[in-house]
Amino acid sequence: MLFDLTGKTALITGTSGGLGQAMAIGLAQAGASIVAISSSGSDRTVESVRANGGQIEQLSADLSKADGLEDVFAKSLGFFGQIDILINNAGIIRRTPAAQHSRQDWSDVIDLNLNSVFYLSQLAGGHMLARGSGKIINIASMLSFQGGLNVPGYTASKHAVAGLTKALANEWAGKGLQVNAIAPGYMTTNNTAAITADEKRYASITERIPAGRWGKPEDLVGPAVFLASKASDYMNGHVLCVDGGWMAR
Ligand code: NAD
Repeated sequence: MLFDLTGKTALITGTSGGLGQAMAIGLAQAGASIVAISSSGSDRTVESVRANGGQIEQLSADLSKADGLEDVFAKSLGFFGQIDILINNAGIIRRTPAAQHSRQDWSDVIDLNLNSVFYLSQLAGGHMLARGSGKIINIASMLSFQGGLNVPGYTASKHAVAGLTKALANEWAGKGLQVNAIAPGYMTTNNTAAITADEKRYASITERIPAGRWGKPEDLVGPAVFLASKASDYMNGHVLCVDGGWMAR
């Protein structure tokens, strides 16, 4: 029963594919009703959850537009009448060396990867505080700890996500909310397509991963269910690495 999410509703962002899709399917299998949000639609995620008998509704929205977020949250709440779990997963990456990194790239990344995480956490947090319980899970990165290469905006945003996770946890831990983060290692999704296409870089990264392989989106499901469930009720402000041992090396 510790990991059972029956009767809970999870709002998950970035669910058209990749990690968000896997977490939506996984949380639905654990019993949660899902509100799936992405800018490009989540039809395949919806089909998959429903085919397994799960409950899911979707919204298409550009979460980098801060002005629209109150409306997005109100509509999300309207589907099942409550939000017990928020997974801030939607994120983008722009790969350009720092000296050439355009202001547009910088602000696009910060608007989605950081600003939308804070604004959605405020909206969901307010709702959860009123109910005295809730779980917020932010998707961080290895680049919440390391500098990365040619991705200064992304690294800045993911360091900030780790800090924000701790800041919110400090304020809300005593009020029944748990705010934590998952830091995925190298996972094969659209986000890493440019690296997987580069044979040399792909091989050198694989060699450095103690598990000897890249992560699959499904590798995130267990940790996400754990942080969404009662099993993690005494965890606050933690950034959980799911990285095949990358950070241990
Ligand atoms: P992905 O590109 O497959 O998925 C990104 C999702 O975000 C998609 O559903 C997309 O529609 C959505 N999205 C993009 N822009 C949006 C916007 N403006 N508004 C709403 N939704 C938007 O990539 P992924 O690897 O599944 O990434 C998910 C999260 O995991 C991101 O935060 C990413 O930074 C993080 N992450 C990924 C890896 C990895 O190796 N793949 C590693 C560490 C962290």
